[in-house]
Amino acid sequence: MAGIGLSLPSNSTHRPAFSSSTPRSSSPRCCLSSVKMTVSVDEQKKTFTLKKSEEAFNAAKELMPGGVNSPVRAFKSVGGQPIVIDSVKGSHMWDIDGNEYIDYVGSWGPAIIGHADDEVLAALAETMKKGTSFGAPCLLENVLAKMVISAVPSIEMVRFVNSGTEACMGVLRLARAFTGRTKIIKFEGCYHGHADPYLVKAGSGVATLGLPDSPGVPKSATADTLTSPYNDITTVENLFNAHKGEIAAVILEPVVGNAGFIKPKPEFLNFLKKITKENDALLIFDEVMTGFRLAYGGAQEYFGVTPDLTTLGKIIGGGLPVGAYGGRREIMEMVAPAGPMYQAGTLSGNPLAMTAGIHTLKRLQEPGTYEYLDKITGQLIGGIVDAGKKAGHAISGGHISGMFGFFFTDGPVYSFEDAKKSDTAKFAKFYRAMLEEGVYFAPSQFEAGFTGLKHTEEDIQRTIDAAEKVFKDL
Ligand code: PMP
Repeated sequence: MAGIGLSLPSNSTHRPAFSSSTPRSSSPRCCLSSVKMTVSVDEQKKTFTLKKSEEAFNAAKELMPGGVNSPVRAFKSVGGQPIVIDSVKGSHMWDIDGNEYIDYVGSWGPAIIGHADDEVLAALAETMKKGTSFGAPCLLENVLAKMVISAVPSIEMVRFVNSGTEACMGVLRLARAFTGRTKIIKFEGCYHGHADPYLVKAGSGVATLGLPDSPGVPKSATADTLTSPYNDITTVENLFNAHKGEIAAVILEPVVGNAGFIKPKPEFLNFLKKITKENDALLIFDEVMTGFRLAYGGAQEYFGVTPDLTTLGKIIGGGLPVGAYGGRREIMEMVAPAGPMYQAGTLSGNPLAMTAGIHTLKRLQEPGTYEYLDKITGQLIGGIVDAGKKAGHAISGGHISGMFGFFFTDGPVYSFEDAKKSDTAKFAKFYRAMLEEGVYFAPSQFEAGFTGLKHTEEDIQRTIDAAEKVFKDL
């Protein structure tokens, strides 16, 4: 796609932000840019209603626990109730009341080339003509596998699964099978899906809802999970000393997204590489979020640190359910049927997920992609933090490529403990007000945000303008 990195990504059918050409021109918010000239902000706000969302969510609560199929979606930590989405396109989404939002969640990461991309949709339509699932090998698996292997430095062989959770479950069994050890080290605030051994001091919904651990997880399932604060070299050293020859692996988010956005300190990843090597343990990067997001080769390419094993998800499925784990050939050949470590999946490698993944990655290979993401995301987070500071709020934030976050605390934030100093009540107020301004962030202080190639500089400026307005009243 010409234009990425030079100006705004173009797509003939892309609906410009809040343009009057959008098919939803009857919506109270979809013409914000033109309405703005004649209607005051207060009048606009009067038109903001979530009546249909409220009705739908109330009905949903009778049908599904908490009205949702994944906890953070329920808006518990920001108050009020969730908006129910009708459709998405590019960098925008529309709820069932007709409100339009600039979306910084991107389906929690996959929508890096923009929602409902025309090429991806066309490719999916073609693939669908041949069927949706074979439960048998298909050529598309080879194509995506080759793309993943050539992109991600640590991956010589890959196994596709259906979610990040599954990828992290598989990789744990593999690390244990390969090393013949059972203990793992994970970090406070990191989230590796909802499998039992990882539900210890986990991030994401567990952090958002303030759940210490989940009932239903037997003590025996977490007995071999050792934890350390993120970026804490001494604790990791102590754990290795206290459990000599017992630690199978260290797993981490190389940049944390599930406790808010937290970067590793410069020496941290190299230290983990060294200490795992010295102790014959494996280093696992959970790149479900960072894979193909920080750089085409993920955090490992970005930081130049190659782990033994890697998990992926989100982007490699282009918005369809997917996950993957991979690593050195000698380790991956332990996986059944090449080796004895069992792991399987009815829909794994299905042609639809493979198709969406292939076309998403192809787009990401185009020159300037990550430079563009870095540029607009830097503008976004710089603008928000400046606006917050100018209005007298304690706020800090950061970004790498198209991943970002901000906390209502002066920072610096290097760990989940630091993140918890954030004024979450203030975040909730800010969140609700931004929603009314047509900006959709992740509904929790403890989640990273995402931009995509379809976010325009106009989207970014509108967001900063909205934040300036909201900060003044906060
Ligand atoms: N690992 C990380 C780093 C994640 O961010 C997530 C989900 N946000 C998962 C694992 C679990 O992935 P899924 O929700 O697809 O099961």
